[in-house]
Amino acid sequence: MSATRLDLSGKRVWVAGHRGLVGSALLRRLAREPVGEVLTATSAQVDLRQQEATQTLVQRVKPELVFLAAARVGGINANRSAQGEFLYDNLMIAANVIEACRNIGVEKLVVLGSSCIYPREAPQPIPEQALLTGPLEPTNEGYAIAKIAALELAKMYRRQYGLNAISLMPTNLYGPEDNFDLASSHVVPALLRKFHEAKLARAGTVEVWGTGTPRREFLHVDDLADAAVFALTRYEGESHLNVGAGTDVSIRELAELIAEIVGWDGSLVFDSKMPDGAPRKLLDVAMMTALGWRARIPLREGLVQTYEWFAHHYGADSRLEPTRR
Ligand code: GDP
Repeated sequence: MSATRLDLSGKRVWVAGHRGLVGSALLRRLAREPVGEVLTATSAQVDLRQQEATQTLVQRVKPELVFLAAARVGGINANRSAQGEFLYDNLMIAANVIEACRNIGVEKLVVLGSSCIYPREAPQPIPEQALLTGPLEPTNEGYAIAKIAALELAKMYRRQYGLNAISLMPTNLYGPEDNFDLASSHVVPALLRKFHEAKLARAGTVEVWGTGTPRREFLHVDDLADAAVFALTRYEGESHLNVGAGTDVSIRELAELIAEIVGWDGSLVFDSKMPDGAPRKLLDVAMMTALGWRARIPLREGLVQTYEWFAHHYGADSRLEPTRR
């Protein structure tokens, strides 16, 4: 841990994955800091799964600070049906970016992962030390193994080469710029969309996957971006850090809350043929709390804001065409 804060003034900061949920939140958050330049590259410009392309980019733009937010991500359905792709893409992206950062000797690197790195039966709330103590949740094992490899690589590069890398493991995230595609999205964007479309169609029922009993902790992505900048400037430890809201809800409670926010009052139909995934994923946030950081956006407020963003873009943005029936 370091007593002195890293100074962001005039720094060249690369946000790898700036178009995603996390990367776009980092751009919003960095706009409030005195950084020199925020560097970005789209996946069409540079495929981070390719080592040479990644090295060339990093050598050319010479970032001083790096956020590794580039990843192939998806909800329970996308993850379980493309485990190989999720493992390969995320493994390659992480290995290439971390190695390129070591090569040019960046001042600091922040690796972003996910709470799915923990064993399915981990104690709740889950402390950082639960890593690698038991079998993973099978629906997102490929993704989780890639994220474990990424945080271990960062840790081992710190030990072997002195690379100043830290890792953050956020809980389930939601917010603007999320993926609202029903086949591949996470539960929050899926339910916002399903209930919104049910309201427009005056439909009386909506299908919710699984039994409704799993519990999840949801963090607004702006809180995560704030935590990432906080940790970048104040934390130097070897252990990864959990980033969460500190409370969880059942999927049924979440669905009822989202239905109320959207203003749709039909009935929920739970489809138990769809997977529940992990029974519970609540992070122990004692380490971040001890460092002086806590989440600020209450779930209801974050969902209202995300629904406003969705409703504003729905039908107006090529990524958000109304679902065909
Ligand atoms: P997970 O945390 O990796 O399981 O990610 P998800 O956000 O995809 O799913 C969280 C929980 O919400 C799981 O128990 C899902 O079965 C449940 N769920 C209910 N309805 C939906 C839906 O329409 N889409 C998704 N992705 N999950 C849903």
